[in-house]
Amino acid sequence: MRLFLSTFFLQLAFLTAPHAQSIRISVFNSQEINYFTVNISEGRYVLRSNGETLGEYKKGIFYFSKQGNSIEVRDKRNLIGKFQEVELKPMEESGILKVNPVSPNLEGREYDGNLMVRMSGSRMKIINVLDLEKYVAAVIEAEGGNHAEPEFYKAQAVLIRTFTIKNLYKHAEEGFDLCDEVHCQAYLHRCTQNADILSATVSTAGKVLVDQDGVLIMSPFHSNCGGKTSASGMVWQKDLPYLKSVTDPFCSVGKQATWTASISREDWLKFLADYTKSPIDYSRYDFSFKPAQRARYISIHGIELNMRTVRETFGLKSAYFSIQDLDGKITFNGRGYGHGVGMCQEGAMEMARVNYSWLDIIHYYFKDVEVVDYREMELHRFKSGKE
Ligand SMILES: [Zn+2]
Ligand SMILES: [Zn+2]
Repeated sequence: MRLFLSTFFLQLAFLTAPHAQSIRISVFNSQEINYFTVNISEGRYVLRSNGETLGEYKKGIFYFSKQGNSIEVRDKRNLIGKFQEVELKPMEESGILKVNPVSPNLEGREYDGNLMVRMSGSRMKIINVLDLEKYVAAVIEAEGGNHAEPEFYKAQAVLIRTFTIKNLYKHAEEGFDLCDEVHCQAYLHRCTQNADILSATVSTAGKVLVDQDGVLIMSPFHSNCGGKTSASGMVWQKDLPYLKSVTDPFCSVGKQATWTASISREDWLKFLADYTKSPIDYSRYDFSFKPAQRARYISIHGIELNMRTVRETFGLKSAYFSIQDLDGKITFNGRGYGHGVGMCQEGAMEMARVNYSWLDIIHYYFKDVEVVDYREMELHRFKSGKE
């Protein structure tokens, strides 16, 4: 009976959760697209608008163009109609579409699942509705590349899924869940069927991370921490109990372990004048320094220098660097790539390579977190995850 009841509630949660299994992503989100074509690469599709079927298609090309305040849809021969919202939906469980923007002319991308095109103000919005796990696989590929170990992909899958579920309402007012840019998570196209990525997604299906209060965590990651990750408070507003600074001996073999960049001393002095708003002439000071560890601020000649501001001003790979002030040049010798908070991808890749499991990796970079299945969480938790 107990088993029956819990299964029953599980199913109920599934039926009532609006996007428990599929997710709506605004694709080509940063582009204002006025004209694009869609090819059916695989599967059979129906074209629908307002609940009405306009046609069934096996192969074919469709032309979508913005005409005034509506979307004109044509196939190879005919005008199909003008719509405010129109949808291409697979007739079987799966299907693949290729979207080719013509104006502006951009490289085409393949997507799994549905495509919804709708007018939003004066813009055409292209929204890809697809299975959440297929989305997770595609984001792993975009964010984690194609050449890592299976255990790394599993850790990455859990972080990406956690972010996805926590942020399901990020773009709700615009009529979709997430965008395809780094604002949410990079989603470039459907997963190109990397077997390790796909099986990492399947074997961790539904798994997400919660903190000690059972709340979905922030699950950031970055390319390389330079040997020490940042506590969240060092980069963002808040210190979080699960995002502490950890020493990472694994990423020193990574491609992004170190970097150098130089600017002219003139540019540096200009920056300081701007930064300090002080009349002091710093031109005779020596700005060489070596940080003992990661720090949010360093104090140099009475200046409280925000490392992140320096990073952003000069487009540096990280805020973890020393400075060499020599021969009219300021040279930054830096470590790592990215904000340094959460999982260090190159460290995690190395951990996986030397046989740590995905759970070891997660617990190394995130403290006191637990793995749960989001499908068993109460619905209001999804809402409380809104940032
Ligand atoms: Zn976004
Ligand atoms: Zn690292």
